Amino acid sequence: MHIGELFKKKAKPVVSLEVFPPKPTSPIENVFNTLEGLKALKPSFISVTYGAGGGNSARTLEIADRIKNHCGIEALAHLTCVGLAREEIDNMLDRLEACQVHNVLALRGDPPAGEISFKQPANGYRYAQELIGHIKDRRQFCIAAAAYPEGHMECRDMGKSIEYLKMKVDQGVDFLITQLFFDNNSYYAFRERVLQAGIDCPISIGIMPVLNAAQIERITSLCGARIPEKLKILLDKYRNSTADMEKAGIEYACEQILDLRDHQIDGIHLYTMNKVEQIKTILQQTGITTMV
Ligand code: FAD
Repeated sequence: MHIGELFKKKAKPVVSLEVFPPKPTSPIENVFNTLEGLKALKPSFISVTYGAGGGNSARTLEIADRIKNHCGIEALAHLTCVGLAREEIDNMLDRLEACQVHNVLALRGDPPAGEISFKQPANGYRYAQELIGHIKDRRQFCIAAAAYPEGHMECRDMGKSIEYLKMKVDQGVDFLITQLFFDNNSYYAFRERVLQAGIDCPISIGIMPVLNAAQIERITSLCGARIPEKLKILLDKYRNSTADMEKAGIEYACEQILDLRDHQIDGIHLYTMNKVEQIKTILQQTGITTMV
């Protein structure tokens, strides 16, 4: 099924989850066990990331297959332009189709570790919008793309960012998923600008619960999400106590979600970091799904 249809049919917000493949040195069964736990939460779909720098793609496929054909949940496979020539993109799409996965989050991707800037692969693509056009030409896929309410690290000009987003959506995007953010006002301001630009596809909000202070500081330094003062105080207060940090981080995520829900959003996409219990607590405390 095309996930885009869910945004038309389902009560909003559509609740979805994201997992990542374990490192090649760790058994794939680790994430299969996580999926069993997440399946019980009855998300509308589960997405699986594509290794930064383009590595580990076989695991992305294997996990997407597992989500779709073993867990019986719609799968959204992330795919990036990094290191892929057009024929290799087609090969990935063929393999996704072979396991009935018809939903792709099309991304440019970040450079592999050790490289500073993104390099367009020979006979490959420079921007996500080109990959989207390529996938769209095959007609079988529902396509999602990334949106950045606080701007992208390489483009802090919000006007340009929205212009590029519109170009991307016009290539045939069915829905958007946002980069994580911790200040809902950033999103409300972004949504205004998106609407003004005539972008009208559904937007699912990416929420990352803070479960570990050092980890969140590392991630935000890479993706550029702003840490508001209120969250900074919590990070400083609880950074040395895992249990307290987790409790405060879950509360923060719940507050964010409840406020978003009151603002008629289309979807909530939880970056699970392959955790089950914490995600279950968030869904229970916010009541954003009645299935838990
Ligand atoms: P694009 O939309 O192509 O944008 C890249 C940059 O180019 C931006 O600065 C943009 O402003 C600029 N730009 C776009 N179009 C033009 C144009 N026509 N002219 C000039 N400049 C332009 N990364 C992974 O490696 N694996 C994943 O699984 C993964 N999952 C993600 C999931 C979500 C929900 C999000 C938000 C991000 C994810 N990322 C992932 C990170 C993503 O790959 C990076 O943020 C990457 O740097 C940008 O990807 P994009 O698809 O947004 O690129």
